[in-house]
Amino acid sequence: MAILRAIKSDITTLKVDAIVNAANESLLGGGGVDGAIHRAAGPELLRACRPLGGCKTGEAKITPGFNLPAKYVIHTVGPVWHGGSFDEAELLASCYRRSLEIAQENMVSSIAFPSISTGVYGYPIRLAAQIAVDTVRYFPAYSQSIAEIIFCCYSEYDLRVYNMQLESK
Ligand code: ADP
Repeated sequence: MAILRAIKSDITTLKVDAIVNAANESLLGGGGVDGAIHRAAGPELLRACRPLGGCKTGEAKITPGFNLPAKYVIHTVGPVWHGGSFDEAELLASCYRRSLEIAQENMVSSIAFPSISTGVYGYPIRLAAQIAVDTVRYFPAYSQSIAEIIFCCYSEYDLRVYNMQLESK
Protein backbone atom coordinates (compact mmCIF):
# COMPACT_ATOMS: atom_id res chain seq x y z
CA MET A 1 0.00 0.00 0.00
CA ALA A 2 1.27 3.46 -0.89
CA ILE A 3 1.82 6.24 1.63
CA LEU A 4 -0.80 8.99 1.33
CA ARG A 5 -0.23 12.51 2.60
CA ALA A 6 -1.34 16.08 2.06
CA ILE A 7 0.99 19.07 1.89
CA LYS A 8 0.64 22.76 1.09
CA SER A 9 2.84 23.63 -1.87
CA ASP A 10 3.11 24.83 -5.44
CA ILE A 11 2.86 21.57 -7.38
CA THR A 12 5.32 22.81 -10.02
CA THR A 13 8.15 22.73 -7.45
CA LEU A 14 7.73 19.09 -6.42
CA LYS A 15 10.47 16.63 -7.24
CA VAL A 16 8.30 13.57 -7.76
CA ASP A 17 8.09 11.14 -10.65
CA ALA A 18 4.78 12.57 -11.84
CA ILE A 19 2.58 15.55 -11.14
CA VAL A 20 -1.04 15.57 -12.23
CA ASN A 21 -2.41 18.54 -14.15
CA ALA A 22 -6.03 19.64 -13.80
CA ALA A 23 -6.30 20.42 -17.50
CA ASN A 24 -9.22 21.20 -19.79
CA GLU A 25 -10.42 19.08 -22.70
CA SER A 26 -8.23 20.89 -25.24
CA LEU A 27 -5.00 20.06 -23.35
CA LEU A 28 -3.67 23.31 -24.78
CA GLY A 29 -3.20 25.15 -21.50
CA GLY A 30 -5.39 27.34 -19.36
CA GLY A 31 -5.42 29.20 -16.07
CA GLY A 32 -4.92 28.00 -12.51
CA VAL A 33 -2.68 25.02 -11.95
CA ASP A 34 -2.69 24.24 -15.69
CA GLY A 35 -1.18 27.65 -16.52
CA ALA A 36 1.38 27.31 -13.73
CA ILE A 37 2.46 23.87 -14.98
CA HIS A 38 2.83 25.06 -18.58
CA ARG A 39 4.85 28.11 -17.49
CA ALA A 40 7.19 26.03 -15.36
CA ALA A 41 7.57 23.18 -17.87
CA GLY A 42 8.28 25.52 -20.78
CA PRO A 43 6.93 25.66 -24.36
CA GLU A 44 7.90 22.06 -25.11
CA LEU A 45 4.98 20.94 -22.98
CA LEU A 46 2.46 22.60 -25.29
CA ARG A 47 4.25 21.04 -28.28
CA ALA A 48 3.92 17.63 -26.64
CA CYS A 49 0.23 18.18 -25.83
CA ARG A 50 -0.86 19.28 -29.32
CA PRO A 51 -0.64 15.88 -31.04
CA LEU A 52 -2.58 14.22 -28.19
CA GLY A 53 -5.82 15.55 -29.66
CA GLY A 54 -7.36 16.67 -26.38
CA CYS A 55 -8.69 14.55 -23.55
CA LYS A 56 -12.21 13.63 -22.43
CA THR A 57 -13.49 14.55 -18.98
CA GLY A 58 -12.54 11.78 -16.55
CA GLU A 59 -9.70 10.57 -18.77
CA ALA A 60 -5.92 11.18 -18.53
CA LYS A 61 -2.87 11.39 -20.81
CA ILE A 62 0.85 11.55 -20.04
CA THR A 63 3.71 13.73 -21.30
CA PRO A 64 7.26 14.37 -20.16
CA GLY A 65 7.77 17.11 -17.53
CA PHE A 66 10.40 18.99 -19.58
CA ASN A 67 11.75 21.82 -17.36
CA LEU A 68 9.80 20.68 -14.30
CA PRO A 69 11.55 18.80 -11.51
CA ALA A 70 8.92 16.08 -12.11
CA LYS A 71 9.71 13.53 -14.80
CA TYR A 72 6.14 13.32 -16.10
CA VAL A 73 2.94 15.34 -16.24
CA ILE A 74 -0.29 13.33 -16.23
CA HIS A 75 -2.99 15.57 -17.67
CA THR A 76 -6.51 14.81 -16.53
CA VAL A 77 -9.75 16.69 -17.11
CA GLY A 78 -12.01 17.11 -14.11
CA PRO A 79 -15.74 17.71 -14.37
CA VAL A 80 -17.26 21.16 -14.14
CA TRP A 81 -19.56 21.28 -11.08
CA HIS A 82 -23.20 21.64 -12.16
CA GLY A 83 -24.82 20.88 -8.80
CA GLY A 84 -23.92 17.20 -8.41
CA SER A 85 -26.46 15.34 -10.53
CA PHE A 86 -24.48 15.27 -13.77
CA ASP A 87 -22.10 12.41 -12.95
CA GLU A 88 -19.62 14.83 -11.40
CA ALA A 89 -18.63 12.42 -8.61
CA GLU A 90 -18.04 9.48 -10.94
CA LEU A 91 -16.09 11.63 -13.40
CA LEU A 92 -13.92 13.08 -10.65
CA ALA A 93 -13.19 9.61 -9.26
CA SER A 94 -12.30 8.51 -12.77
CA CYS A 95 -9.67 11.29 -13.01
CA TYR A 96 -7.87 9.87 -9.96
CA ARG A 97 -8.21 6.25 -11.10
CA ARG A 98 -7.08 6.85 -14.68
CA SER A 99 -4.14 8.97 -13.50
CA LEU A 100 -3.00 6.18 -11.17
CA GLU A 101 -3.39 3.57 -13.90
CA ILE A 102 -1.27 5.61 -16.29
CA ALA A 103 1.26 6.23 -13.52
CA GLN A 104 1.56 2.50 -12.95
CA GLU A 105 2.00 1.79 -16.64
CA ASN A 106 4.95 4.19 -16.56
CA MET A 107 6.52 2.75 -13.40
CA VAL A 108 5.95 5.96 -11.45
CA SER A 109 6.83 5.61 -7.78
CA SER A 110 5.82 9.06 -6.46
CA ILE A 111 2.89 11.12 -7.71
CA ALA A 112 1.31 14.43 -6.66
CA PHE A 113 -2.28 15.48 -7.34
CA PRO A 114 -3.67 19.01 -7.20
CA SER A 115 -7.21 19.44 -5.94
CA ILE A 116 -8.83 18.64 -9.30
CA SER A 117 -11.97 20.61 -10.28
CA THR A 118 -12.09 22.69 -7.09
CA GLY A 119 -10.81 25.94 -8.65
CA VAL A 120 -12.48 27.46 -11.69
CA TYR A 121 -14.54 24.27 -12.20
CA GLY A 122 -16.32 24.95 -8.90
CA TYR A 123 -16.44 21.50 -7.27
CA PRO A 124 -17.08 21.93 -3.50
CA ILE A 125 -13.77 21.22 -1.77
CA ARG A 126 -15.11 18.91 0.95
CA LEU A 127 -16.94 16.69 -1.51
CA ALA A 128 -13.98 16.68 -3.89
CA ALA A 129 -11.48 15.84 -1.12
CA GLN A 130 -13.61 12.92 0.00
CA ILE A 131 -13.69 11.51 -3.52
CA ALA A 132 -9.96 12.14 -4.01
CA VAL A 133 -8.92 10.41 -0.79
CA ASP A 134 -11.39 7.51 -1.07
CA THR A 135 -10.57 6.80 -4.70
CA VAL A 136 -6.84 6.82 -4.09
CA ARG A 137 -7.13 4.88 -0.83
CA TYR A 138 -9.24 2.13 -2.36
CA PHE A 139 -7.54 2.05 -5.76
CA PRO A 140 -7.74 -1.69 -6.33
CA ALA A 141 -4.60 -2.63 -8.14
CA TYR A 142 -1.51 -1.01 -6.67
CA SER A 143 1.51 -2.41 -8.40
CA GLN A 144 4.81 -2.28 -6.61
CA SER A 145 5.60 0.90 -8.51
CA ILE A 146 3.53 3.51 -6.64
CA ALA A 147 5.00 4.10 -3.19
CA GLU A 148 3.94 7.66 -2.39
CA ILE A 149 0.86 9.72 -3.25
CA ILE A 150 0.77 13.40 -2.35
CA PHE A 151 -2.30 15.65 -2.29
CA CYS A 152 -0.76 19.01 -3.11
CA CYS A 153 -3.00 21.72 -1.64
CA TYR A 154 -2.64 25.34 -2.61
CA SER A 155 -4.21 26.88 0.48
CA GLU A 156 -4.09 26.30 4.23
CA TYR A 157 -7.85 25.73 4.17
CA ASP A 158 -7.66 23.04 1.47
CA LEU A 159 -4.86 21.36 3.41
CA ARG A 160 -7.06 21.21 6.52
CA VAL A 161 -9.91 19.68 4.53
CA TYR A 162 -7.64 17.04 3.00
CA ASN A 163 -6.01 16.23 6.33
CA MET A 164 -9.42 15.78 7.93
CA GLN A 165 -10.35 13.42 5.15
CA LEU A 166 -7.09 11.47 5.47
CA GLU A 167 -7.60 11.11 9.23
CA SER A 168 -11.16 9.82 8.89
CA LYS A 169 -11.71 6.18 8.04
P1 ADP B 1 -10.03 23.28 -12.16
O1 ADP B 1 -10.34 23.96 -13.47
O2 ADP B 1 -9.90 21.77 -12.31
O3 ADP B 1 -10.95 23.69 -11.07
P2 ADP B 1 -7.91 25.05 -11.17
O4 ADP B 1 -6.52 25.14 -11.67
O5 ADP B 1 -8.79 26.24 -11.35
O6 ADP B 1 -8.53 23.73 -11.83
O7 ADP B 1 -7.89 24.68 -9.63
C1 ADP B 1 -7.57 23.41 -9.11
C2 ADP B 1 -6.83 23.58 -7.79
O8 ADP B 1 -5.46 23.86 -8.06
C3 ADP B 1 -7.34 24.73 -6.91
O9 ADP B 1 -7.39 24.26 -5.57
C4 ADP B 1 -6.24 25.78 -7.07
O10 ADP B 1 -6.13 26.59 -5.90
C5 ADP B 1 -5.03 24.89 -7.19
N1 ADP B 1 -3.79 25.48 -7.75
C6 ADP B 1 -3.63 26.58 -8.53
N2 ADP B 1 -2.33 26.76 -8.82
C7 ADP B 1 -1.65 25.75 -8.21
C8 ADP B 1 -0.26 25.37 -8.10
N3 ADP B 1 0.70 26.08 -8.71
N4 ADP B 1 0.06 24.27 -7.38
C9 ADP B 1 -0.91 23.53 -6.77
N5 ADP B 1 -2.22 23.82 -6.83
C10 ADP B 1 -2.58 24.92 -7.53
